Amino acid sequence: MKTPKVEHKPQAPRQKHVPERTCIACRAAKGKREMVRLVCSTSVIEVDPKGKKPGRGVYLCPYRKCWEMSLKSNRIEYGLRTKLSTENRQSLLEYGRSLPEKEE
Ligand SMILES: [Zn+2]
Repeated sequence: MKTPKVEHKPQAPRQKHVPERTCIACRAAKGKREMVRLVCSTSVIEVDPKGKKPGRGVYLCPYRKCWEMSLKSNRIEYGLRTKLSTENRQSLLEYGRSLPEKEE
């Protein structure tokens, strides 16, 4: 008796590729849209909510702890290879304070 051919199930439709970004503070990888991009343009580091600005960018979770951690450990500066001025650091810290404490 012939063994029936094993029928290969059709592969599940390919998931649309969602680019993931890694948080420079906690290293969690999430979809680009769930992260906040920081971009270094004209030697000032600014928040780029739409992720469209040109320049070197780093990503952070939209949670206060990640912002504080990355500012404390200078990971933003390291990631963007630049120096944060006191005012710049302050404004980023303030942005971080407007964010929720952590993921619910
Ligand atoms: Zn994070």
